[in-house]
Amino acid sequence: MDDKIVKPEPPLGGPPQGSRPHAPVGDGCFLGEEMKPQAPSYKEALARIKNWFRANSLWVMAYGTGCGAIELRPLATARFDMERLGIAMRPTPRQSNVLIVSGYLAVKSLKRVIRSYEQMPSPKWIVALGSCTINGGMYWDSYNTINRLDLYLPVDVYINGCMPRPEALVAGFQELMRRIKKGEADGWRHYMENLDWYKENQKKIITDWDLPEYNW
Ligand code: SF4
Repeated sequence: MDDKIVKPEPPLGGPPQGSRPHAPVGDGCFLGEEMKPQAPSYKEALARIKNWFRANSLWVMAYGTGCGAIELRPLATARFDMERLGIAMRPTPRQSNVLIVSGYLAVKSLKRVIRSYEQMPSPKWIVALGSCTINGGMYWDSYNTINRLDLYLPVDVYINGCMPRPEALVAGFQELMRRIKKGEADGWRHYMENLDWYKENQKKIITDWDLPEYNW
């Protein structure tokens, strides 16, 4: 191995405890028998309607980052037919609101994934596939792959396995939809609120940093 290649230092601590987990928009029926359910305020009702529409119209950026991407193909074709669930593939980040990180990420790929994520319009969500995004999986001691995706980007749903089957992907998307409807999938907001923390981690591992500073 080239002597100049050095495994990047582990990043800073755990993710900050910001607004997550986000409290679901109030459901009065859990407050006790003596309390009658309250009608939601106009603002809450509007938020619920918006989230319902968002959850049923997911636009996925078709960008395979790791070997788990191979299971997205059966999901998109006749057998599993993701479009019947309101999920469609788009070719560019600017037209998408779901980023699937489909497995291991080399530091080089991480840089492109960050850039793609930052170009997507909010609200947006990240689905992480496979063990590699959770703890590095079989690449845990590789000199050039990251071990925990959530240190660099906010993950809304993990789908574990190596590699997760299309059925698991369908279940993962249904979980994402449930979380969006409940107002719990707020990784994009967490990213904005803790941008300095994420940027510090990203710059620590990407040594040839030349990405533009994203401006919301
Ligand atoms: S979890 Fe398994 S299938 Fe997924 S990227 Fe890692 S090695 Fe490949």
